[in-house]
Amino acid sequence: MTAAIIDGKAFAAGLRARIATEVAALADRGIKPGLAVVLVGEDPASQVYVRSKGRMTVEVGMASFEHRLPATTPEVELLALIARLNADPAVNGILVQLPLPRHLNEAAVINAIAPEKDVDGFHILNVGRLATGQRAMVPCTPLGCLMLLRDRLGDLAGKRAVVIGRSNIVGKPMAQLLLRDNATVTVAHSRTADLPALCREADILVAAVGRAEFVKGNWIRPGATVIDVGINRTEAGLVGDVDFTSALPVAGAITPVPGGVGPMTIACLLANTLTATARANGLPDPEGLTP
Ligand code: NDP
Repeated sequence: MTAAIIDGKAFAAGLRARIATEVAALADRGIKPGLAVVLVGEDPASQVYVRSKGRMTVEVGMASFEHRLPATTPEVELLALIARLNADPAVNGILVQLPLPRHLNEAAVINAIAPEKDVDGFHILNVGRLATGQRAMVPCTPLGCLMLLRDRLGDLAGKRAVVIGRSNIVGKPMAQLLLRDNATVTVAHSRTADLPALCREADILVAAVGRAEFVKGNWIRPGATVIDVGINRTEAGLVGDVDFTSALPVAGAITPVPGGVGPMTIACLLANTLTATARANGLPDPEGLTP
């Protein structure tokens, strides 16, 4: 048996096409969604992400506003920019690219974003809303993983899910989303005892560890659906957190790296921007873009 490959690249392209259609429909009502991306400093990976975010935002017909600030920007200046973007009706989504330079307080900066424009879903109010089952903005990467899982498996109720990683960006919101879909969820981390045995119980295994090819094929339950969030740069190129070669004959389905979860993240950022725009204009949430 060989695992089915979950084509995140194709799924994300389909999602962006749907979003473009919805954006065109909004244009008929005189509404144009706008996404502002703030980049502080010159982190090379962040620059690449910000560029592709800007390009894809324009491709779906939204307005893209880029704010590049020097690495030495004082926190008051960054907060003043966020306050201006919060007040700007042309801006429906605000994303502050992480990581921020060390002298800036990441939590204070994120929590300064108006929650309804927080398209990354990192504001403490959105985190709390997700955790309590209220209408939230949901972090893009786990939202993308959820879409792929639902597409593959349909109803997730009763499935045993193991999420490896407990970051605020991926692991924790992923666990919340799976729980909300009635999976039975275990969150593993660096102190988890006998991780391979735990993973072998999972119908759904999400790896968000940040270690190249960490999860081995013999940790995977035969037929399980494996979502590999990892992006690790090695001499051999980009690899995930799952050892793809040994996982392939065991898993039922698996996301490749690259071409799996990665493209879903930006597509979901656009989805969140569309959702934020609909909500700002008193329209119903676009279908299938929110959990
Ligand atoms: P973090 O470094 O914030 O979190 C990593 C998690 O993995 C931590 O909870 C850590 O545990 C856990 N961990 C580390 N080592 C082990 C171990 N030996 N056994 C079990 N658990 C372990 O990473 P992120 O969540 O931000 O990102 C995870 C991966 O996903 C990275 O490769 C990142 O590049 C990628 N990523 C990809 C995105 C995409 O768009 N595809 C978006 C965001 C991230 P502990 O808490 O105990 O330290």
